[in-house]
Amino acid sequence: MALITDIDKAVQLLLEGALVALPTETVYGLGANALDTKAVAKVFKAKNRPSFDPLIVHVASIDQAREVADLNDAAIALLERFSPGPLTIVVPKKDVVPDLVTSGHPTVAVRIPDHPMTLEVIRRSGLSIAAPSANPFGFTSPTTAAHVQEQLGENIDAVLDGGPCGVGLESTIVDLCGKPKVLRLGGLALEELESVLGALEVQTSSSNPKAPGMLSSHYNPGAKIRLFDDFDDLRRNIDNVDNSNVGLLVMSSEMVGDNVFNLSPILNDVEAASRLFIGLRELRASGFKEIWTHYLPEEGLGRAINDRLKRAAN
Ligand code: AMP
Ligand code: MG
Repeated sequence: MALITDIDKAVQLLLEGALVALPTETVYGLGANALDTKAVAKVFKAKNRPSFDPLIVHVASIDQAREVADLNDAAIALLERFSPGPLTIVVPKKDVVPDLVTSGHPTVAVRIPDHPMTLEVIRRSGLSIAAPSANPFGFTSPTTAAHVQEQLGENIDAVLDGGPCGVGLESTIVDLCGKPKVLRLGGLALEELESVLGALEVQTSSSNPKAPGMLSSHYNPGAKIRLFDDFDDLRRNIDNVDNSNVGLLVMSSEMVGDNVFNLSPILNDVEAASRLFIGLRELRASGFKEIWTHYLPEEGLGRAINDRLKRAAN
């Protein structure tokens, strides 16, 4: 596998039906030509992803979204307001989209990623690009090119290195086929979506195969996770035990230490989101068998962070 920064090389590989991991503002995606069934099949194989878990199709503009999907008024309003950005909409698919991409659903998930290199790859290639997170199925999503290399290096053709991901959490997914419903909390805060759509139903973690990104056990960081109600609850518990084998993933204005990864000393949800997956990886890499962490306040990106922590702990 090659680590590249040459956009034209990435374009050439994708046009040949190869797999190229691409930087986005959320996490790195494992990209393939969405309309090429053979290339898409390779994505499922490389990730060991079950075929019932559909892929998000990445495009560079609203016009290009129309090539793969039927857009209703809500879809256009949301794309105009939040794209490019960490929002994925689920809408009826066009016939050109292979069933493999949508796991047989009549709907397709579409998003315009906010990363200049990947937008340029899409524009120059003219392709719509199916790209799930570039990690083996069930594991933590990669937020740097090096993470992709470590986890999937042998199974893919190239990684386009666009630096660390700014948002660091997967996109928020909203189903617009009936009454709008959030299928996955993510990098766009629920409050932002609700400012356009009004109060929204949120489908949280479940094993419902209709929304497999929401499988209740996901984001496995390779260590046992213990999840406390809040920071004070965590601190009370560490005071009472020998915690030398425990890494602490916290958001606190005061806590420091060799075994501490502080998500945001200024207690900012956006900063915490951008550091969440890095923190899980670093504590695991330091050899801690157990990671203790705590829920953040249920607001802004705290909701999506809590969702990931809950599933990492499962
Ligand atoms: P990933 O790109 O790995 O973060 O996962 C993409 C997620 O998008 C999937 O796991 C699904 O939950 C969701 N998704 C993609 N396509 C659809 C669809 N047609 N209907 C509902 N959810 C979808
Ligand atoms: Mg994923």
